[in-house]
Amino acid sequence: MQSTITHLECPECGRRYDHRRLQTVCKDCNSPLLARYDLDKVRRTLSLDEAGRRQRGIWRWAELLPLLDAKHRTTLGEGDTPLVPAPRLGGAIGLRNVSIKDESGNPTGSFKARGLAVAVSKAIELGVREFVIPTAGNAGGALAAYATRANVSAHVYMPSDAPPANQHEVRAFGAELVLVEGLISDAGKRAAQEAAKHGWFDVSTFKEPYRLEGKKTMGFELAEHFGGRLPDVILYPTGGGTGLVGMWKAFEEMEAMGWIGSARPRMVSVQAAGCAPVVRAIETGSQRIDPWQDAETAAAGLRVPSPYADRQILRAIHQSNGTAVAVSEAEIAEAQAEMASTEGLLAAPEGAASWAGLKRLAAQGWVGTEERVVLFNTGSGLKYI
Ligand SMILES: *Cc1c(COP(=O)(O)O)cnc(C)c1O
Ligand SMILES: [Zn+2]
Repeated sequence: MQSTITHLECPECGRRYDHRRLQTVCKDCNSPLLARYDLDKVRRTLSLDEAGRRQRGIWRWAELLPLLDAKHRTTLGEGDTPLVPAPRLGGAIGLRNVSIKDESGNPTGSFKARGLAVAVSKAIELGVREFVIPTAGNAGGALAAYATRANVSAHVYMPSDAPPANQHEVRAFGAELVLVEGLISDAGKRAAQEAAKHGWFDVSTFKEPYRLEGKKTMGFELAEHFGGRLPDVILYPTGGGTGLVGMWKAFEEMEAMGWIGSARPRMVSVQAAGCAPVVRAIETGSQRIDPWQDAETAAAGLRVPSPYADRQILRAIHQSNGTAVAVSEAEIAEAQAEMASTEGLLAAPEGAASWAGLKRLAAQGWVGTEERVVLFNTGSGLKYI
């Protein structure tokens, strides 16, 4: 179970980077960097079935993760979340195969755990002892937990109106919490300044290559859930887009290893109407995402006015023949109540947005009755109370 990472690569210009050093983004085009593996080797030594027999959690994909030495693994039991059938929700809108990938059971109650488990482990392997992150909330909680687990320090920059549970958990884990007036973009500027001043390592979304690698494990798990196939449609509540781009990368890797065929799910990015830069770019056919002014939504994880990996997000949606949909605050609140009262699942507002988005698309006839649809519930509703 040895990582087969070979190098890092810029998806825009192809420039290669050394994975044995700490890297951030492409020096030429500022693009996020992607980890590349010896997929021929993995193809010969590991199958989807074999991986399925290993101990649960994201680390059973070790060959396809960047960590070279298992002694640097920082884990709280992240990953391998259930795919919960939602027959009553789906039935209510005439769909027969809707299920929910329920990420709420991850450590710290959101899927941010997957990405930060890998990013923290890898950075520690490369010598980092002090981390910094700007966050809408959940990523800060996850960083604080993993940093504490690894006995290193973390500084978390969070908008002052972030959910109280996120503020509480960061302090409880013993990290430094800095509340910032404004949005995650303002927190990002502060975090970058402090990182430069103190030599802290910045694990902002897509500003280092490995949170993406943790999140891509959701794609492997889906292929497993569906017996070596993939669903027809995936609805993903999109902030920075890590999971969307990560799953897309996982699908490419699995096809290259012969684990799956070339069929792909249509990827749907769901956003809040009060902050919908991805939806606007899809509607206007743009290749880049313009910053959204005056972003506002109670779904904190979706309040990302200017996603850094804009080219990669748009490419995944376009290549998959997917789409993007914006839902209102009222639709999100209603969706959250419906998920709870029909399927027994108290979703985060971001996860509820996926269900609201599916209702929209089903009403437009965009989703077929028999199609296998996966909604992502990315976190626990309990963190927003
Ligand atoms: C961060 C977050 C999102 C958005 O995830 P991205 O990968 O940044 O798009 C969605 N839901 C929750 C609960 C989150 O914490
Ligand atoms: Zn580049």
